[in-house]
Amino acid sequence: MEEQEEKKEQKKKIKVKMREQPPLERIKNFNEVPHGYSPEEAVEEATRCLSCKRPTCVDYCPVEVDIPGFLKLVKEGKFLEAAYKVKETNALPAVCGRVCPQEVQCESGCIVGKKGEPVAIGNLERFVADYEAEKGEVMIPEKPKPTGRKIAVIGSGPGGLTCAADLAMSGHQVTLFEALHKAGGVLIYGIPEFRLPKQIVAREVDYIKKLGVELVVNAVIGKLFTIDELFNEYGYDACFICIGAGLPMFMGIPGENLNGVYSANEFLTRSNLMKSYLFPNYDTPIKKGKRVAVVGGGNVAMDSARIAMRLGAEKVYLIYRRSEVEMPARKAEVHHAHEEGIEFLLLTNPTRYIDDGKGNVCAVECVKMELGEPDESGRRKPVVIKGSEFQMEIDIAIPALGTKANPLLTKTTTDLKLNKRGYIIAEEATGMTSKRGVFAGGDIVTGAATVILAMGAGRKAARATNEYLKWKYWDVSNLAKAI
Ligand code: FAD
Ligand code: SF4
Repeated sequence: MEEQEEKKEQKKKIKVKMREQPPLERIKNFNEVPHGYSPEEAVEEATRCLSCKRPTCVDYCPVEVDIPGFLKLVKEGKFLEAAYKVKETNALPAVCGRVCPQEVQCESGCIVGKKGEPVAIGNLERFVADYEAEKGEVMIPEKPKPTGRKIAVIGSGPGGLTCAADLAMSGHQVTLFEALHKAGGVLIYGIPEFRLPKQIVAREVDYIKKLGVELVVNAVIGKLFTIDELFNEYGYDACFICIGAGLPMFMGIPGENLNGVYSANEFLTRSNLMKSYLFPNYDTPIKKGKRVAVVGGGNVAMDSARIAMRLGAEKVYLIYRRSEVEMPARKAEVHHAHEEGIEFLLLTNPTRYIDDGKGNVCAVECVKMELGEPDESGRRKPVVIKGSEFQMEIDIAIPALGTKANPLLTKTTTDLKLNKRGYIIAEEATGMTSKRGVFAGGDIVTGAATVILAMGAGRKAARATNEYLKWKYWDVSNLAKAI
């Protein structure tokens, strides 16, 4: 009896695991890896929550979801009500449940995590959002009285979608301008199908349209219209810029212009947005390599490597100049990459790509590294080990070294103050920029960050825009006091 009790106690310390496709099966397809919880599993997991009076998990959620509130509803089997509770503050729960780094956010603050594994808040968020969609009972809140104000939101990534939804719910007429032919930003062109099915992004975009947001695709602001034209010729009262930071970076080493060297952005866009893995059913081709080298240690590198594997590569190397401890990618993605057979070449850095004589990459030369003193990021700096050069045969290389700000829009808006790296300078609490009526947020302000931080910025900017429209505050300190 005592033993049984002890087993029960032990079980409570561990999260209910999500069933997923086995590695050898999933590397042959692009279907989502985890299957999600069943209702029984969701109730069992939610029951681990202690309904804390002072819920520290919420402190770590950038959009302040009422976590104990929605978990209590899951415990009671009220799944639809739980979904509505999450949606009070998070317009994209099915996305966040799948891609947010919960291990460093809400789950890192969960008290249950002090003696075992924290409550699987992300998995449960995903469950309630999927349940709501499956039941076809997506609740569209009642439309507020129109204010007669027109707002332009530029960029339809998570930040733009959140801001557009909040502003529509305040009664404004919102137009969401998107440069690509589909809305969703990185959610649609960057993060692969097996991590975030595109049908889910489409579902969330559809919800935002149902709130009354007008979506205009194939509209590159800065080329089609300038911001000033939106204000002066098209009568917009305010605008929110959330255009991401999508310009790829390269190392500047010899051979980066050879055929077969893709920027991660191009590789991911071809595969995810243009569905090149289904070529010729879809028009866009992609070169399928036998030996692929991906350079980097973030989510972008992990996604590129896992796609290359699914495209049929015999060997995929992940080359990273630091050790696995310093990798910025989500732990779950690193774990999945290992399981799928990606070979990690740690403390290694490429120095040049080698030409086969016909303009194609045929090998990469690398050096081994060791970790020295911490640099300005606090991580130990990788230092080259002299004489450690070696070469490896490859036919595809994918540098995934991060991205920077695209100047297309900002160079046509000269009164918008930028920092020295080309990112827009915006007030943290409000998103207010140097240009009257123009707010900004997401990666174009912070540099490459996370989905939830972009969403948080969208929410803050929507609140600030409401205040601005009421009073036309111009002084940031006044605006910050008002919200
Ligand atoms: P974006 O999502 O970049 O969206 C910006 C949109 O603006 C794009 O659709 C773009 O086409 C559009 N645009 C650009 N210029 C213009 C213009 N001039 N006119 C009109 N539209 C324009 N974060 C996580 O939290 N978890 C993850 O697992 C994760 N994985 C990632 C994997 C990859 C491959 C990448 C690239 C990023 C990942 N991130 C992840 C980071 C995260 O996706 C971004 O931080 C987030 O999407 C930023 O949101 P945003 O709204 O600022 O911009
Ligand atoms: Fe539940 Fe953990 Fe949040 Fe407490 S901290 S309310 S246990 S999820």
